[in-house]
Amino acid sequence: MEYTPSIKELSNFPFLKNSKDYIRTRYSSLDSLLAGEHGEKLIHHALNRIRDALSAQRTTDKTEVGNPEELLASYALARVVISCLNDKQLIDRLTRYEAERAYRAMVNEEQWNENFRLEDAGYSRLCVSVATEMGIAVDQDSMSLVDYVELVAPIREDRFRLVNRVVTKGRVKVNNDEVYELLRERIRVLLRRDLPVKVPSSVCEQLAPRLAELQKVYQEQMLRQFGAIEESAFPPCIQALIKAITSGANITHPGRFSLTSFLHNIGMEKTQISGLFARAPDFDPEKTMYQVGHITGSGGTEYTAPACAAMRTTGLCIRPDLLCEKINHPLNYYKVKKKKMVGPGHGETGE
Ligand code: SF4
Repeated sequence: MEYTPSIKELSNFPFLKNSKDYIRTRYSSLDSLLAGEHGEKLIHHALNRIRDALSAQRTTDKTEVGNPEELLASYALARVVISCLNDKQLIDRLTRYEAERAYRAMVNEEQWNENFRLEDAGYSRLCVSVATEMGIAVDQDSMSLVDYVELVAPIREDRFRLVNRVVTKGRVKVNNDEVYELLRERIRVLLRRDLPVKVPSSVCEQLAPRLAELQKVYQEQMLRQFGAIEESAFPPCIQALIKAITSGANITHPGRFSLTSFLHNIGMEKTQISGLFARAPDFDPEKTMYQVGHITGSGGTEYTAPACAAMRTTGLCIRPDLLCEKINHPLNYYKVKKKKMVGPGHGETGE
């Protein structure tokens, strides 16, 4: 008999087609979703969902607030809100959170789903249904090489590297726990690919006070995460860029962008960043303020500092030190180095 997940089951996987269809049949338009007291309640749930995603101590294990329909609607609205903000880091946080939330719902399904039913390969029928929609066949203890390679591409863990796997006749052996992890990754990638969605500007304007509040929460969280600015914990690439500016060297656009976005991401004020550029002999205050403003969000988009891979591509990664070998982002370098300098028990690393 064909299986259709219940609304409670769907509420744990709000990105599925059936979940979206459910919301579409209940609400004829975005305006009707946002309307009245009920709309206010849904916005409240959506903002909580995003705050949860931004929180350093994520609460994906807690009992979810709201009935299944509200949970589905809050997911839809969270996507709307995050799209209005259109900040890459916030979008990344939300998609990671949603993927993690779905992952936990899968591995703990017996605890919350009274309709839990195990299928042949050791997965529940709900999990099989989620995996199928995500394009992953979970009926065997192996996966086609092509699917596997695509799925593990963004994963850095050694145990997923092909050289560490058993491959037989074009299939890679995977156990159930690993399949859940790969599913989590697939969900994250697909959700990320679909964001931001196009939202009418009137809706973003209606949500503007809430958006400002969220940005404030995020900024505060970033500041808590990075704490007071510590120049000696800057990664070698950033130190080199500062040295280059101070000595009057002409740094490239990617160099200016990387330096500005890095300093902004660790919580440095616009004026402080501009002050740093003022160390350059050819300092142009107006041009600098414009460029810094643009990168730090005056045009509506805040940029995230490039990862090490991108820094290497633009020739900005200078000879890495030992810590560089263990991280993949200058911001992680800073977090780790600063924590080491302050010592255990002080400051927060956030993730
Ligand atoms: S490895 Fe990363 S943090 Fe280290 S110098 Fe290169 S870009 Fe900077």
